[in-house]
Amino acid sequence: MIKFLDLKKINEPYETTFQEKLKSVLDNGWYILGKETEAFENNFSNYCGAKYCIGVGNGLDALVLIFKGYIELGKLRKGDEVIVPANTYIASILAILQAGLVPVLVEPKLETYIIDPDLIECKINSKTKAILVVHLYGQLAEMSQINAIANQHNLLVIEDAAQAHGAENRQSNNPESAVAYSFYPGKNLGALGDGGAITTNDSELAKVIFSLRNYGSEVKYQNEYVGINSRLDELQAAFLNLKLVNLDEDNKKRREVAKRYLSEIKNEKIILPFWNFSHNHVFHLFVIRSHNRDHLQDYLSKNGIQAMIHYPIPPHKQKAFSDWNHLSFPVTEKIHNEVLSLPMSPVMTGDEVSFVIEILNKY
Ligand SMILES: *Cc1c(COP(=O)(O)O)cnc(C)c1O
Repeated sequence: MIKFLDLKKINEPYETTFQEKLKSVLDNGWYILGKETEAFENNFSNYCGAKYCIGVGNGLDALVLIFKGYIELGKLRKGDEVIVPANTYIASILAILQAGLVPVLVEPKLETYIIDPDLIECKINSKTKAILVVHLYGQLAEMSQINAIANQHNLLVIEDAAQAHGAENRQSNNPESAVAYSFYPGKNLGALGDGGAITTNDSELAKVIFSLRNYGSEVKYQNEYVGINSRLDELQAAFLNLKLVNLDEDNKKRREVAKRYLSEIKNEKIILPFWNFSHNHVFHLFVIRSHNRDHLQDYLSKNGIQAMIHYPIPPHKQKAFSDWNHLSFPVTEKIHNEVLSLPMSPVMTGDEVSFVIEILNKY
């Protein structure tokens, strides 16, 4: 069987070095906010070309902490509206709500699955204060156009890069933005449990978030803010330090798989994803569309290929958001009805890729 994502195989090469790291953390006897976390924060901010990196508990908290940080700085207020793509993973929307802000959904482009910049402006009103951009599936959003809109209307830009580690040295593109990452095991840079981080060049924001993630406290037992407990584990940071070294190589391997899929899958029933070659797409997912998606998924499964749906139900149709269930987002709904993610990872063999292509071409 060809797995959608073989996490065991991804982590296997690190077995010895993981064990050495575990031993060194045990020997140090320090498990929260120690040397490994600090080293990872340095390594990851360097990697991203950002001045600051704050390690946190997971990707959702990374987003929540950015919003809470801006609220503490007086740059956002409870009740402000935040523009967000309608087809994102639920976490982007939950983060806005958790911070007491109001999500305003905007349709993506069908071809790219990414927020359509041309549809942003008509959703902007006096309450709009930020845009949460999502680099979905590993492809960068159209940042120059989005940044221009944000500048014109004086909006903050926050980036959800949970699926886009290494997609570009983005921090230098927009020195003002704050970027949230997740190190959930299946992400391009994945821990052996939960983890997340925020990168930014904004020293004030970084300072507040360093405090907010640790109970709003900088000096132990003195609380400046109403914070939360969301710290990147020492042990996860240690594992991530080892894996970060190979991230660019892993992303390159993902692109090689994607190149083969794009050039060799030839079937009218399958719509291949768009890749803007001027960006380093990191193919967290390789997402095709098909009008009879469920049938295709079933066919692949019968042929020993595991394909997954990201995501089967759009946020506005979720039971949790019953107030939105009556809303209509036709592009988003079409995407959720038609998308299918093919096996994609840096550990897929050439033979496995060939087999997926062969089976798809016979469909
Ligand atoms: C995974 C993901 C998150 C949340 O990350 P967690 O670490 O699971 O909390 C947020 N946004 C997007 C787009 C994601 O894919």
